[in-house]
Order: sequence, then C-alpha cells, then structure tokens
Amino acid sequence: MTTIAFIGLGNMGGPMAANLVAAGHAVHGFDLSPASCEAARIAGVSIAATAREAVSQAEVIVTMLPAGQHVLAVWGEIVPLAKAGALLIDCSTIEVEAARKAHELAAAKGLVSLDAPVSGGTGGAKAGTLTFMCGGCDEAFARARPVLEKMGKRIVHCGGAAMGQAAKICNNMILGATMIATCESFALAEKLGLSHQAMFDVVSTSSGQSWSLTSYCPVPGPVPASPANNAYRPGFAAALMLKDLNLSQAAADAAGAQTPMGAAALAIYERFVAQGGAEMDFSGVISFLRG
Ligand code: NAD
Repeated sequence: MTTIAFIGLGNMGGPMAANLVAAGHAVHGFDLSPASCEAARIAGVSIAATAREAVSQAEVIVTMLPAGQHVLAVWGEIVPLAKAGALLIDCSTIEVEAARKAHELAAAKGLVSLDAPVSGGTGGAKAGTLTFMCGGCDEAFARARPVLEKMGKRIVHCGGAAMGQAAKICNNMILGATMIATCESFALAEKLGLSHQAMFDVVSTSSGQSWSLTSYCPVPGPVPASPANNAYRPGFAAALMLKDLNLSQAAADAAGAQTPMGAAALAIYERFVAQGGAEMDFSGVISFLRG
C-alpha cells in the first residue's frame, strides 16, 4: 500500500483516485469543488482540508487540474511541503513549457517528477483503461509505473521532462485535423447523394481510413458507440479539443515548427466553439461544416 495525495478530483481525477482506492492505496484527496470532494469521499478517498494537508504524508503526489496555470500554482504550494523522496506526477494536459517549469520546481527541492497526460476520456478514467504518455527520468517512470497501472492499461515512457505533453499535443493535433477532414468528406458525400453507410464501408477499408472514422464516426449509424448516435453529447468536448489545439500551436510557435493544418483546425474549432459548440462532442463540428 502506498500513501498517495490526489489533487484535482474532477471528471477525470475523481474516477482515477477511486481506482487507486480500489487497488488498496491510501488516497488523500483535495479539490476546490465541494461536490467533487463529496463524490470522491463516497468512493473512499480521504478528503483533506487543503492541498498542503493532502500531501503532508504522501509518498506519491498526483495532480489532475484544468490547465498549466493551475498546475504551477498548486505545485508551487505543495512542493515545498512534500516529504523527502516523494514522487510528483502531473496527469493534466498543459503547455510543454509549463510542464518543464513544474519539473524544475520539483528538481529544486530534490524531488523526482513525471508529466503523464492521458488519453481515453472519462470512460477510460472510470474503467481504468487510460493511456499515460510519460515524460521524466527513468527513476520517476519506474516508480510511477505501478501507480499508473492501477488507472490505465498502456503506460508509455516518451522521453525526458515534458515529452509526455509533447506526445499528447502532437496526437491531438492529428486528431483535430483528421476529424475535420472526415466531417468535410461526409458533408461532401451528402451533397453528392452518397449514403453514410456506403461512404463508411468504402473509406473504412481504403486509404482515407482513420480513427476519427472507424472508432468515432461523426455521423450516426456506422459506429453505434460514437457520440453522433447520442446527439453529439461528449465524449470529448469541442472546448477541450480547442484547448489542445491552442497548446499544439503554442508549442509549434515556440519551436519554430510549421503546422498549417494544425492552425486551420484551430481556426475551425474556434469558430465552432464561438457559435455555441463548446459543450458538444468535437465530432459535432460536422454541423458547423455543413453550413
Ligand atoms: P475538471 O474541470 O472536471 O476537473 C478539474 C478539477 O480541478 C475541478 O474539480 C476543479 O475544481 C479542480 N481544481 C482547479 N483548481 C484547483 C486547485 N487550485 N486546487 C484543487 N483543485 C483544483 O476537468 P477534467 O475533465 O477532469 O480534466 C482535467 C485535465 O485532464 C485537463 O487538463 C484536461 O485537459 C485533461 N483531460 C481531460 C479529458 C476529458 O475527457 N475530460 C481527457 C483527457 C485529458
């Protein structure tokens, strides 16, 4: 049994912390939201009055927060109070630069740390089937692995500090662009009189195939589990896709990389979200593309 602090018990962090409890760990949690704390308490998390209190005895500290500014604020508060030898793991999706700064905060206190953003969504968080993309030293990865395995089924060491965040935003830049391309093609097929099923049957076994089509088809019918069959309720909200595309463009600007498709995808999701799509699943962008 490991004593674990878990800060950020929202849609993702709540079920992730619950899986650590179910695996027999002592989990001390904290969240600013009383409702999130209460749900986690029912799942067996011991709720602390502050983040500082939650980390005081922890051997492993996990954060799952909305954005980089929250992670740096919380790490700035808890790192000075962490026990000697504690391991810090941030699972939030944040800027590559913010992840580097978080690692520096830990290193200044002599602590090892890992950036470990996830894919798999709230369904994967509940089922314990998340993919973790990890950045940090070998020691941090080796120590984190048994903890992450209680919350996920694929744990990948992507490289040194912030390389987990790099992998996450590169993947999601592909996802945003392929979803838009898939939606555009369905909208064109509709105008040409081609049925959704015929289009799916051909493209899913042809060179236009992608995860956006075969696992997450943006029209109802061909893939029964996709959000298109559920009035585009998320799933993965368009607002979160927009956040990730902003992160990939910021990283591209900082690195001097040319990402014109990423920039185009960002502009389309900006307009979709501005027109009321924020809470819809990101595949709902097809309604915007139909005009
Ligand atoms: P969420 O908004 O449901 O949860 C975040 C929680 O952090 C909230 O409960 C909030 O009260 C808490 N919080 C904020 N500031 C805090 C502070 N200073 N101290 C303590 N608690 C604080 O968000 P989520 O959906 O759980 O996402 C968390 C992270 O995971 C984000 O970075 C998101 O991009 C990423 N992510 C989400 C999904 C998804 O499908 N929801 C998928 C992959 C990655």
